[in-house]
Amino acid sequence: MPNILFRCAKVVRRTRGLRAAVAAAAVVLCLSLAACGTPAAGQGAGSGGDKPVVLTTFTVLADVAQNVAGDKLQVESITKAGAEIHGYEPTPGDIRKASKADLILDNGLNLEAWFAQFVEGLDVPHAVVSEGVEVMSISEDSYQGKPNPHAWMSPVNVQIYVDNMVKAFSKLDPANAAVFEANGTAYKAKLQSVKDEMVQKLATVPEAQRALVTCEGAFSYLARDAGLREVYIWAVNAEQQATPQQITKAIEFVKANKVPAVFCESTVSDAPMRQVVGATGSTFGGVLYVDSLSEADGPVPTYLDLIRHDSKLITEGLTGAAS
Ligand SMILES: [Zn+2]
Repeated sequence: MPNILFRCAKVVRRTRGLRAAVAAAAVVLCLSLAACGTPAAGQGAGSGGDKPVVLTTFTVLADVAQNVAGDKLQVESITKAGAEIHGYEPTPGDIRKASKADLILDNGLNLEAWFAQFVEGLDVPHAVVSEGVEVMSISEDSYQGKPNPHAWMSPVNVQIYVDNMVKAFSKLDPANAAVFEANGTAYKAKLQSVKDEMVQKLATVPEAQRALVTCEGAFSYLARDAGLREVYIWAVNAEQQATPQQITKAIEFVKANKVPAVFCESTVSDAPMRQVVGATGSTFGGVLYVDSLSEADGPVPTYLDLIRHDSKLITEGLTGAAS
């Protein structure tokens, strides 16, 4: 018990920066569940029975991780389908869940602003899955020069995510290392074909229409792979977004380049982009998925679906095939 109390004190001290409610919840948890210790592999408290529990920060990572883990690990996402992930505020329930996980995966590249504080208070190992990707910088707004966190919008980068997951899972569960390796290889082949499909599809957009206008600047990696010009209203989802100046800039670009269709993403309001549509005569090309998958019965229950859905929608919008 003294050891547990010591660990609890450490957790509480480290979570000082979190909201008071979360810190208070950590205290309650520590005292009532003695949940601050590191669970041994196989003792995770998810619904996975005796499988080690891997927790990811968002649904896209959970799907990729599940493909690598197969039936050997229980994979869950902290944020739910449809959640805004940049400025997410962890709940006491998240802290409880995370304290019992065997491994936590995050994207890194400043995607999860809330994550550093979140894991700092936990004695659970974590791995940054974007490690090793060729990072693109944000070129505008107050984020200028900072890494663009949406590296998973290139399936080629996700192949690197997979390698990092294979490594982390093999460390967690060495007995199944060969299974993770084989699953990773098979999934990387699927990533390669979805990337080839994406590039082929978007190559049908005529040169003059090759501009992707979205709400968030989340498509830099996809635009790079597919040879599109990327334009957005704001750089990264945050509280201060869609200022009148940002909207005016988008309107001017769409008018000057006669952009046939513009888009917005599933986790933010499309109202600013509707304003661009109203001012330019461009059409609204539809809802793209970036920061979250849909629910299982929605249009993009998996990451491969996400890339297929987005490239289809963009191609249809920019070639006029949608109308
Ligand atoms: Zn985003």
